[in-house]
Amino acid sequence: MNTLLEVGYLLTAVLFILGVMRLRSPATARSGNLTAASGMAIAFIVTVLKYHSYSWLLIGIAIIVGAVVGTYAAKKVRMTAMPQMVALFNGMGGGAASLISIGALHSSWSHGISTPGSSISALLTILIGSISFTGSLLAFVKLQELISGRPVTFGAQKLVNGILLAIALILGLAMVISGGKHDFLTLTTYVIIAVGLGVLVVLPIGGADMPVVISLLNAFTGLAAAATGFLLANNVLIIAGALVGASGTILTQAMSRAMNRPIQNILFGAFGKVAAGEGGPLAGTDGVVQTASVEDVATILAYSRNVVVVPGYGLAVARAQQEVRQLMEKLNQRGVTVRFGIHPVAGRMPGHMNVLLAEADVPYDSLYEMDAINPQFPQTDVVLVIGANDVTNPAARNQPGSPLYGMPILNVDQAQRVIVLKRSMKPGFAGIDNPLYTNPKTSMLFGDAKASLSQLLRELDDV
Ligand code: NDP
Repeated sequence: MNTLLEVGYLLTAVLFILGVMRLRSPATARSGNLTAASGMAIAFIVTVLKYHSYSWLLIGIAIIVGAVVGTYAAKKVRMTAMPQMVALFNGMGGGAASLISIGALHSSWSHGISTPGSSISALLTILIGSISFTGSLLAFVKLQELISGRPVTFGAQKLVNGILLAIALILGLAMVISGGKHDFLTLTTYVIIAVGLGVLVVLPIGGADMPVVISLLNAFTGLAAAATGFLLANNVLIIAGALVGASGTILTQAMSRAMNRPIQNILFGAFGKVAAGEGGPLAGTDGVVQTASVEDVATILAYSRNVVVVPGYGLAVARAQQEVRQLMEKLNQRGVTVRFGIHPVAGRMPGHMNVLLAEADVPYDSLYEMDAINPQFPQTDVVLVIGANDVTNPAARNQPGSPLYGMPILNVDQAQRVIVLKRSMKPGFAGIDNPLYTNPKTSMLFGDAKASLSQLLRELDDV
């Protein structure tokens, strides 16, 4: 029986790895998700059979509550609220790993069977898992705007965090050396410090940095899960935790690179404090803003040869992906080539635009990544920017004082003409004015993207 269960775990590990591999392309991502989920189902069944002394009633209740909450949340969540949903689920993972380790440590102390190795595993999990738990919950409340999303800073913040971390490590060391010896007061203090550290680490982070931090906390949770795997001698937990830890780390790096924000700046730089959410009208630019009517835009598009659509967060807000696909089809029928330029951090989560466009059945081969589409802009007749702002901001390229300076952008201003669909002159997520809007090549079509695109579709029939 035991061999069969181990084979089940092995199969789980293989399915997890295959699932992650299939997530690399939008074409295979859906089946990758199902592959990994079936791995999870097998892992669950094997675990229940392996530790059959547990209460079936408690397990049953946990399954029902988890399945109901998870299904409801996944069905209800809006695409734009995905980062906070990920934060919430991630926090639960960190919290669970931490609780399991507290239980395991407590039990090993009570039975006098703790070893330095098992204590170190458990204490590391408690520290990392607790930081991830409260850090992710705080990220959730910030992103859900239950409290202000801005960074909260105070003097000597880094020093306080450093001292708390040092105290936690000293307490941890003391517990390993003493081998427990009913040292529950020290353990309680240790847990309180870890939980507090999660809050203190995320407090000074805000604005555009939040999703990057969520990805980092996700990596932390993976490490905590892997450490729990060592503690429980559970191979599948080690493999799953390592996969989450590695992919979270790679994603964090990719996001911070795409935003040109070194990870230490994200953790200690309080970006949103100065930049995010300033709002208000375009200030500091004296150029003229040209507006265009729906008729103008329809005519320009109908008589162009090639168009690049640059989607951004506003497309997700307006839920205008179906209209974009219809526009593409209509223009294709007229012989106009339509391609999509996808910035790695357009929207509010990695792959946001790919997911949106895939939902509307926009062919994958018409999607071009930033590096592939940028050299094409000078030969492009028209760029249609739909609800994108920061990712097209030329200040990132040519204004050294700008907080966006250095972030790679889509060079839409190099095209022959630019048409921007958005509702107002308000800035995007970074709160930075966009000189693209006063470029003589640019025309603004103000309005909700879905409404503007619907009108455009009707108008194109008459051109
Ligand atoms: P931005 O947030 O820069 O701009 C979005 C624009 O959409 C706004 O200027 C808004 O203008 C417009 N908009 C909103 N609603 C609508 C609507 N209904 N119809 C039409 N337009 C609308 O988005 P980008 O995608 O250009 O940039 C993403 C930003 O998010 C970057 O700063 C990036 O660093 C950050 N970020 C992205 C992450 C990711 O993983 N993708 C992670 C972390 C941060 P108006 O209100 O005038 O309509």
